[in-house]
Amino acid sequence: TIWQQKWVVGNWKMNGQLHDNNALVHKLRSLPAAERVCIGISPPTVYLLQAHNAVQIVLDNKIHVCAQDVSRFADKGAYTGEVSAEMLKDVGVDIVLIGHSERSLYFNEKNDVQRQKIENVLRVGLIPLLCVGESLKEREDGREKEAVAYQLSVFKGLKTQNFAVAYEPVWAIGTGKVATKEQIADMHQFIYNEILSLCGNDANIRILYGGSVNDKNAADIFSVPHVDGALVGGASLKYESFTAIIHAAQ
Ligand code: PEP
Repeated sequence: TIWQQKWVVGNWKMNGQLHDNNALVHKLRSLPAAERVCIGISPPTVYLLQAHNAVQIVLDNKIHVCAQDVSRFADKGAYTGEVSAEMLKDVGVDIVLIGHSERSLYFNEKNDVQRQKIENVLRVGLIPLLCVGESLKEREDGREKEAVAYQLSVFKGLKTQNFAVAYEPVWAIGTGKVATKEQIADMHQFIYNEILSLCGNDANIRILYGGSVNDKNAADIFSVPHVDGALVGGASLKYESFTAIIHAAQ
């Protein structure tokens, strides 16, 4: 199952258009089967259906289509501009990013909203992938674990056994600054223990690292204990670097 695999999820953010998406996804389709890797691509909402149609779903080489965001509640109704979890499911999405730091930075999305979105996603049977991570200021003040523990508290009391988290120190996103192996190891162990204590021992847990992962540093990052994959921004837009990261995960 995907709960035993390493996940490599490409977060395209607000990038890509029909022509380039098609080229990239068609190249990805021809990747050899990567049995130990769960590959995901996360295009902007308007291109989810395009991605789903273009991804050939073969049992041993499935590319998961992931959404970058979702509405807070309801399957349909008078909520202008929103896209429901039910609709994402309808167009072939199976994983939904929740709480990316850019959403809290630019759209003021905090724990309460993230919690609603997670519940909405779980209700229709999709997998939420919660993004957590401290700011530079929080790390400098030595409060990085406190910050991450607070973000993880949105998981408390959820009716699920499946927990997917991306640890993305805000200071490492799109900056070219990667956390050190020691920093990653320390925080991933902490997140693992936190989820166990919030959610119990039979939880399925995947903890991805995110923050300037590329073809050069991926193998090193994947060698760190409790690193179950990567959430990749910039490097996921180029076929060569994204596939090199997938290979490093195998
Ligand atoms: C991200 O935004 O999820 C991310 C990790 O970006 P980048 O790889 O570009 O740092």
